[in-house]
Amino acid sequence: MDKLHQKTLTELQAVLRNGDCSARELAEHFLQRIESHNRLNAFISVDTERALAQAERADEALKSGTGSPLTGIPIAHKDIFCTDGLLTTCGSKILNNFVAPYDATVVSRLNTAGMVTLGKTNMDEFAMGSSNETSHYGPVSNPWNTTRVPGGSSGGSATAVAAGLTPVATGTDTGGSIRQPAAFTGITGVKPSYGRISRYGMIAFASSLDQAGPMTRCAEDAALMLDVMCGFDELDSTSLQQDSTQFCAQLEKSVKGLKIGLPKSFFSEGLDAEVGDIIDSAIKTFKKMGCTIIDVTLPSSELAVPCYYVLAPAEASSNLSRFDGVRFGHRAEKYDDLVDMYQKSRSEGFGDEVKRRIMIGTYALSSGYYDAYYSKAQKLRRLISNDFNRAFEQCDLILGPTTPSVAFEKNAKTDDPVEMYLNDIYTIPANLAGLPAMSLPAGFDPKGLPIGLHLVAPYLEEGRMLNAAHQFQLNTDFHRTFPEEFIE
Ligand code: GLN
Repeated sequence: MDKLHQKTLTELQAVLRNGDCSARELAEHFLQRIESHNRLNAFISVDTERALAQAERADEALKSGTGSPLTGIPIAHKDIFCTDGLLTTCGSKILNNFVAPYDATVVSRLNTAGMVTLGKTNMDEFAMGSSNETSHYGPVSNPWNTTRVPGGSSGGSATAVAAGLTPVATGTDTGGSIRQPAAFTGITGVKPSYGRISRYGMIAFASSLDQAGPMTRCAEDAALMLDVMCGFDELDSTSLQQDSTQFCAQLEKSVKGLKIGLPKSFFSEGLDAEVGDIIDSAIKTFKKMGCTIIDVTLPSSELAVPCYYVLAPAEASSNLSRFDGVRFGHRAEKYDDLVDMYQKSRSEGFGDEVKRRIMIGTYALSSGYYDAYYSKAQKLRRLISNDFNRAFEQCDLILGPTTPSVAFEKNAKTDDPVEMYLNDIYTIPANLAGLPAMSLPAGFDPKGLPIGLHLVAPYLEEGRMLNAAHQFQLNTDFHRTFPEEFIE
């Protein structure tokens, strides 16, 4: 019998509805696990009292029959989402004392659905990183091998779900931060189309790329979460004027005849052989399920990383100018005048990676360089997006590996930013094109480390992508494999 922390959302719903366990007992179970596996460092803050109070309210709703499908299910939020009355650090020292006076829309929607917030998860500082090692609150460990990184920037959320410290978590993805850690920790992570989910109250990194999404055990759980998270929000001007989504209703469709495109550039130099082998066997599974596999090309996508590392830092340098020690966050204790106060507060408050990005971004936007770098990167972005449009004239979904390698050792890439940046080589193109994409477990390498399969769908076709992922999971059990060390 699976333990409570190995169960999916649908299974936990049944547990609550049958009265096998109350929402309060469920919350206590996960809070207890967070405490006993504290060494993973997946959480920045945990609020037991608040979680238990929410759980008791959920129990009342369940008793009176007024609950929603998510009522009483525990969740952890990436510490990038503002939470009313609860610390929100964004992984940075500059926000080490910041308590937001309101909830992000994602948080308030999930609260309204009756979910129980366990706490806030660790992350790379301002979501800049691929290993969770840039967090001011220390690195997070990967539950499959604790000497390895869980990926980033949503590494705390990924580890928390993978180790069964929470059934689901939220994450954000600017260049791969939901999908890459999902791949490294053997869970399912979805980045929806740009604009699907409100970003109100989600601390901005690169606004033309940032998108929130769920991190879960399986595609079905992700669909359940997305049906609540997606939808128009008048508080976010980039939020799409769309009717509410019904992804759950599309999961059971047959995928027979679905055309899956394999971009050659995602299977070439730089891809580790053991990852390639696992993806090949996933392709065979899709074939067995009746899908047609074809070759497609995304010629400009090999320039996605340099393009991203001009645009994302440019936007970040502008977004992060609001952290000046005046309105919120850390302020230097001693300073001579206003300019000195800005300088000292920011020098003390930001970590090295954030400073590096602010400098690159400011440089790329400065007069004389704007045309050479920023405008050029914008043009390249358009070419990358056109490549996808052309590919989707031939296929319904695009498939590849999520990452070139399995989770690497801590400190292995901290001295080489470019090596670190290359981790997102397969995930970044979908952000640049605004497309929905996801990672799901596809198998393990010989050392037992998880490998992620990457799916990209045309704009607003999350339903098709989740359908294919769910059908794959009905035919495989990689998503049900749990890290041995954390079963108890
Ligand atoms: N790893 C990428 C970066 O460092 C992507 C981060 C993200 O998606 N938030 O920018």
